[in-house]
Amino acid sequence: MDPDIVVVRGEKPYNVVIGRHIVPQAALHVPDTALRVAVFHAPAMIETARTVAQSLEVLGREVLMIELPDAEGAKTAAVAADCWEQLGAAGFTRTDCAVAVGGGATTDMAGFVAATWLRGIPIVQVPTTLLAMVDAAVGGKTGLNTTAGKNLVGSIHPPAAVICDLTMLTTLPPADYAAGLAEAIKAGFIVDPEILRIAETDPVAVLDPTSAQLHEIVLRAIQVKADVVADDLGESIDRALGRQILNYGHTLAHAIERTEDYTWRHGDAVAVGMVFAAALSAAAGKVPAELVLRTRALLTSLGLPTTYRGADLRVLIEAMALDKKTRGDSLRFVVLEGLGQASILQDPDPTWLAGAFAEVQ
Ligand code: MG
Repeated sequence: MDPDIVVVRGEKPYNVVIGRHIVPQAALHVPDTALRVAVFHAPAMIETARTVAQSLEVLGREVLMIELPDAEGAKTAAVAADCWEQLGAAGFTRTDCAVAVGGGATTDMAGFVAATWLRGIPIVQVPTTLLAMVDAAVGGKTGLNTTAGKNLVGSIHPPAAVICDLTMLTTLPPADYAAGLAEAIKAGFIVDPEILRIAETDPVAVLDPTSAQLHEIVLRAIQVKADVVADDLGESIDRALGRQILNYGHTLAHAIERTEDYTWRHGDAVAVGMVFAAALSAAAGKVPAELVLRTRALLTSLGLPTTYRGADLRVLIEAMALDKKTRGDSLRFVVLEGLGQASILQDPDPTWLAGAFAEVQ
């Protein structure tokens, strides 16, 4: 079967390629001008990174392998500085290129290094987790963490191409796979309800990375993200809202992650956050309460959590306030006006927040 291609529109449009056994295609997206290519990879992805390196060497490129620690906590300035030293020692110029092979921590970190080396060299992203395919690797957000918080340092550096090889997902631990599905389901709620229909019709098939249903859901979720991050937004998306709608379920999710010291998977926290956001939408009178049940049932069928019994709401709101202060935002939640239609709710009525929080306890 031929791979699918989603074009991310913008000043420099790029392709997201979705298919099977397409890792070697990464080499074809490295610009002709690049004599040297840095292949950044997570330690466990060494074999896949070697496949990329071989296909580059066949094309006459000189390859520098750079291993990155595979953990969100390893996205540090010290690791970035080490990468810059390696690129400098190998004589990387402005026309050379990077390839990243790994999950979101790897694509974020390598993306940041590529964005900053000589004020930006091209990067081809090869995400190997479901979360990175549908989220991290599309849109060009790069970043690293500081003691003040996650992703406070970074830039937007759109990739030259993104290669999503679905065969990578067959070895992904089931809990990580489910966590990635949470972001794909989110795309269904905010823009494309067909994703929800597919998942509700056959959740067992969706849990199988080799299924046509999973392929379709990944394709649709990437299309949603591509349309949202594009400069000229698609007709189905409200221009004023833009990227904000991608934060559906995320306000509570970020508070849970921070409060739990990032021991929760991002996708798991987003799943709980989506039940909360659905309940908040219902409390605001925007959607019927039935949407809360439907959200909970769908996420449960995919093995995702829908409850959080850690800290109480007051502590979580404090965590949200901290986030808000750091980023200079007001307390805002993405809510639904209907399936596939998102809007922003700013500083909601405290009784609505309490009611929505009760739905996840
Ligand atoms: Mg997210």
